[in-house]
Amino acid sequence: MGNSPKKLTEFLEEEDFPKDQKLYGFSNIGNNCYINSVLQSLYHCEKFKEKIIEFKKNQTENEKETFLLENLLSELFCKINDSEKQIGSISPSNFVKKFLKKTSNLRYRRQEDAHEFFETLMDSFEQSIQKSDQISQKGKQELSLIYQLFSGEENSFIKCLECGSIRGPNVNKFVDIPLDIFLNESLQSCLKRRNLPEKMDGDNKIFCEKCNKNTSSEKFSKIVKFPKILVFQFKRFQFTMNQGQKKLFEKILFPFELKVEEESKKGIKTKHYDLNAIVVHIGKTIKRGHYISYSKVQDKWFCFDDSKVSLADPNLIEFTFGVSSLEPKKRQTSYLLFYTKKN
Ligand SMILES: [Zn+2]
Repeated sequence: MGNSPKKLTEFLEEEDFPKDQKLYGFSNIGNNCYINSVLQSLYHCEKFKEKIIEFKKNQTENEKETFLLENLLSELFCKINDSEKQIGSISPSNFVKKFLKKTSNLRYRRQEDAHEFFETLMDSFEQSIQKSDQISQKGKQELSLIYQLFSGEENSFIKCLECGSIRGPNVNKFVDIPLDIFLNESLQSCLKRRNLPEKMDGDNKIFCEKCNKNTSSEKFSKIVKFPKILVFQFKRFQFTMNQGQKKLFEKILFPFELKVEEESKKGIKTKHYDLNAIVVHIGKTIKRGHYISYSKVQDKWFCFDDSKVSLADPNLIEFTFGVSSLEPKKRQTSYLLFYTKKN
């Protein structure tokens, strides 16, 4: 995706862009673009940024020690917010090194998966909430609110195809929605496909108590709660026995404004979202590629490529959709999408 010819400094001088909106790149300290791209997307999710900054302000020294990662992230965001200049770049090294030290699945200086980083970060937030005895009630509440921004709920059911009885719901929580992708389809249709019933037949028959035997059945699920910050992952990296890891370049369309339907006992509720950030993968494999991100700040789109920040033309977002079958496979491809709920 090309950037608008207008330079960022010129843009900031000419346009009436709020001075308190900081546009900082994160420097690359060794294959950490997968972290940088996600951190940028999170920093520019207003609700998340506000809450994580607030969290640090209210911590005792003891709590700062216990909730090191949350505080390191908060510290990083505060540094940007408190800087005098509106644009620049900052090193995330303190956060990155300590975060990677604490996790076993991601390693320093190795190119990893941006989605795995996002989920690991969310996991650590959740684990922190569990340490309830070491934190004040207020701190626990604040931390829960941060986690809840991303936390959605899905109910799954099993229907016996012989007697028609339905078992469930099984309640599953999620922090993002991974989607199988199908060429030239839209995000909405991938989401619909995800919720289609799955037939369990043959060797996969399940025991039905009513029939008192293994029967053919259907598994289906409904999302009963969409979170305030709704994150999607396009499953572009696949592992096959023969070819090893393979990247899917399939073109998937996604909208700037998204409408989803929540299906709970009370009925169907429509929720409206705005596209806020896109994490983009460039390259043919996960280990060799590069990540950048696009974020919308005050209705303007910006591109964040490690330490570089530039103005981005929203019309060019569609170049991150992926490619149709005949096009060469070298373009940037959208990987993670961050939607925020409209007020
Ligand atoms: Zn049955």
